[in-house]
Amino acid sequence: MDIRFEQVDFTYQPNTPFEQHALFDINLTIKDGSYSAIVGHTGSGKSTLLQHLNALVKPTKGTVTIGDRVITPETDNKNLKPIRKKVGIVFQFPEAQLFEETVAKDIAFGPQNFGASEEEGRKLAEEMLGLVGMDESYLDRSPFELSGGQMRRVAIAGVLAMEPEVLVLDEPTAGLDPQGRKEMMEMFQHLHENRGMTIVLVTHLMDDVANYADQVFVMEKGQVIKTGKPSDVFQDTQWLKKKQLGVPTAAAFAEKLSEKGFSTDQLPLTANQLADQILNAKAGEAQ
Ligand code: ADP
Ligand code: MG
Repeated sequence: MDIRFEQVDFTYQPNTPFEQHALFDINLTIKDGSYSAIVGHTGSGKSTLLQHLNALVKPTKGTVTIGDRVITPETDNKNLKPIRKKVGIVFQFPEAQLFEETVAKDIAFGPQNFGASEEEGRKLAEEMLGLVGMDESYLDRSPFELSGGQMRRVAIAGVLAMEPEVLVLDEPTAGLDPQGRKEMMEMFQHLHENRGMTIVLVTHLMDDVANYADQVFVMEKGQVIKTGKPSDVFQDTQWLKKKQLGVPTAAAFAEKLSEKGFSTDQLPLTANQLADQILNAKAGEAQ
């Protein structure tokens, strides 16, 4: 299922003193099976854009096409449930939204709301808990006794339990330690590769963009100011620095090495690419 934005504007509380124009003329396509990253400073409109992906909000102008559903400012709020099921959004700090007395009930809440039986719900809960790397011994625990990282996994399992085609993640690793962050990113990669899930990731970590995404959208003041493959968008490190977006660690490292005479045709974006280039350069010297 593709998702397409055409000339999308969005304004919070239009025609009131609190009016806030948050998105301007957004045009973009998220292809079925792709892994997209959205980057940009706080307030640039990332979370607002995400809410359009499953019609939680409707554009003030323009259209958002989600699979075969076209959402316009006039779309009525009925019959949006199928879209909510196909596009699952994990908001920032999703653990804050846990509320049931057991992990199993929390994960099964969505599916049961959509008509699954208690038994089916429990089965799904068990499966999804496995997907997020936790075993069934947690099923009957209270979510509130878990660690922060585990709570977040349970919240994500609740979104996965709806079996969405598109998984949308708003800063999913914020506040986790480096190991927890790595495990979580690998879990999303696994869902992408093994289940063919389309992923949309909001992040401020350029290393995550470089390591996982095949397309990146750079947002600034409610607009998408650059779109492309990470390898293209990240080539211009001067631009990234000017925009204060940060540079992938491997690219920054290669730039430091270049001051010492190491030269590359293509700026490396990941540790593996950098390692390959260094090995190739060494092999070249040895000849
Ligand atoms: P980001 O996720 O990139 O930090 P947001 O989408 O949250 O950006 O915000 C974009 C703009 O919309 C900001 O100017 C923000 O203050 C404003 N905004 C966000 N949510 C609301 C809201 N519920 N009501 C009014 N303005 C909002
Ligand atoms: Mg945000």
